[in-house]
Amino acid sequence: MNAPDLRLELVNSLTVDVEDYFQVSAFDRHVDRHHWDAMECRVERNVERLLAMFERRGARATFFTLGWMAHRYPAMVRTIVQAGHEVASHGSAHRRASEQSRPEFREDVDSARKKLEDVSGTAVRGYRAPSFSIGHGNLWAFDCLAEAGYAYSSSIYPVRHDHYGMPDAPRFAHRLHNGLLELPITTTRLMSRNLPAGGGGFFRLLPYRASKWAIERVNRVDRQPAIFYFHPWEIDPHQPRIRGVSAKTRFRHYLNLDRTEARLDRLLSDFRWDRIDRVFEIGAA
Ligand SMILES: [Zn+2]
Repeated sequence: MNAPDLRLELVNSLTVDVEDYFQVSAFDRHVDRHHWDAMECRVERNVERLLAMFERRGARATFFTLGWMAHRYPAMVRTIVQAGHEVASHGSAHRRASEQSRPEFREDVDSARKKLEDVSGTAVRGYRAPSFSIGHGNLWAFDCLAEAGYAYSSSIYPVRHDHYGMPDAPRFAHRLHNGLLELPITTTRLMSRNLPAGGGGFFRLLPYRASKWAIERVNRVDRQPAIFYFHPWEIDPHQPRIRGVSAKTRFRHYLNLDRTEARLDRLLSDFRWDRIDRVFEIGAA
């Protein structure tokens, strides 16, 4: 009998990008930011369900939250902190880093951090770029983050994808020239290619056992903690449908939403999970 050796089990990083179903980059052209305030919001109830699930499973997480959320739903941000989770920044209003000038980006990450710190009453140390939008064309974004006082970023997914990705980036935690720690989303390496293993559409597309296999492989073969991400809207099959989007976008956004909550629950029970600042020992400022 091969009982799992608990001493060898790493603690992985669970992360949630706190944005609502109409704020995702794939809907940029269909939902104007000026109309966000008029949209039916579902984020509060979905975050509540996630918090209850995490509590049941004894998991703690890092919530990369939009500045917009802190402004609109301050009580939700405080509830996340009170439940023992880390609040980090996902920028102000989900603008891709790659669509902003350097001064615009600096202002975006600065004001998101200040707003989140004001509302949460905790230090905000981490940042995740919307749609993993830091790449070879805008590496200066990392300098803006260091200047704005961030200690780490989790903005790179080292895979090939039509909307994001930097397949030649290091796969695991690495320190950049300016002292910022970059924590890429987890991949597994197969036949000289990096395959996504840290969440996103693939978690909903493939059977659960594919994710389980990949994360076990990262833990046991690479001896590295996994960094896994998802969104509150991914457990909400009844969210209002956005009209006029392409068949590909529709497929990617709405696929298997009714199965994701149960899948997440299995993921939480099969592995150990904690906040990024604990797993990677991010010190106080
Ligand atoms: Zn996002």
